[in-house]
Amino acid sequence: MPKYFTADYVLPVSSKPIPNGVVAFSEAGEVIGIYSKDSEELSGKAIEQHRGILVPGFINTHSHLELAHLRDQVPQHEGLIEFVKRVIGLRQFDEAEIAAAMKAADQEMYDNGIVAVGDISNRIVSKKVKQQSKLYYHTFIELIGINPAKAKEIFQKGLELKDEFAPLPNSLSPHAPYSVSKELMREIDAYCKKHENLISIHNQETEEENKFYRYRTGKFLDLYEFLKQDISFFKPQARNSLQTFTPTFPENQRILLVHNTYTSIKDIYFVKRFNRDVYWCFCPKANLYIENRLPKVDLFLQQELTITLGTDSYASNDKLCILSELKNLHQQFPHLQLTETIRWATLNGARFLGIDKTFGSLEKGKKPGLNLITYTDQLNLSTESGLKRII
Ligand SMILES: [Zn+2]
Repeated sequence: MPKYFTADYVLPVSSKPIPNGVVAFSEAGEVIGIYSKDSEELSGKAIEQHRGILVPGFINTHSHLELAHLRDQVPQHEGLIEFVKRVIGLRQFDEAEIAAAMKAADQEMYDNGIVAVGDISNRIVSKKVKQQSKLYYHTFIELIGINPAKAKEIFQKGLELKDEFAPLPNSLSPHAPYSVSKELMREIDAYCKKHENLISIHNQETEEENKFYRYRTGKFLDLYEFLKQDISFFKPQARNSLQTFTPTFPENQRILLVHNTYTSIKDIYFVKRFNRDVYWCFCPKANLYIENRLPKVDLFLQQELTITLGTDSYASNDKLCILSELKNLHQQFPHLQLTETIRWATLNGARFLGIDKTFGSLEKGKKPGLNLITYTDQLNLSTESGLKRII
């Protein structure tokens, strides 16, 4: 039996918001109709009534399931370098504990209305949770290593991990400009010429990354020393990390730049000139947790860039909840339109992950999930707004 749902607004995302609209789902969770409130097709139908806004299931484009056991383990506002050092120091946990934390994180994302996740993995540990999950996962096999001499070896290990993750959707991805050599980027690019391979890379999460690239100074030198990493080969590039890295991005793949907290207008112009298929992911709560700062959101809006959202991991967040990220953004940038930011939280992420035939909008034939955002005022969130997963 089809089910019909209505609320103050239905937000299909791919089309205009419908006041008191109705969306119908089949038992299999497929959208079978979207109606205005007076549609004749609704006569005699039992319609489930809600207060609030109905939206499609959320897409979380940046998480690290394998860090789910690090909740409350890392102090806030110490900056990215200290954060990285602490996380490295915290990697020794019991396997059963890690497995239980990942399972709980997966369940929490489900409860918070997330239907698909782009998840960064260095190890195979999250495979079982992903296999058993009700969520769709794309795993980014993370390649790390700034030493050019090791590029081939690191890439080979990545390929082996990729095989282990199969048949789950996955691709090979660089970690961040400060932890990947141009040689390793060349290995990835060569692979991308022959295979479909989504790319996700951490970008400008700290100003130190730019300092290191421009002048070869700053706190990254301490980090490399801490890691006993010889970087004598590295020459200052006289430009920000993103400008240095953009030419190394594969031309034929979708690329997600994650964080962008210290991305400037010049960086954006630079990226635009190179004509890569770039998506920009914000993880507002993780940024506030680590660096206590947010990206210059208005720049990205003015430049009409394609934005997605991510929760990052429990190492830098108290929740894995896209609505919390939205509430935070709207609080800090009150002029943002919910119709715009819901697109970041749904359709844009689905397009990046290549799953928009199923997810991302309320359209006939899709199985996008259905969330109710409560305590809304017209098309605005309130501080009380919460989420109820309907489908
Ligand atoms: Zn991350």
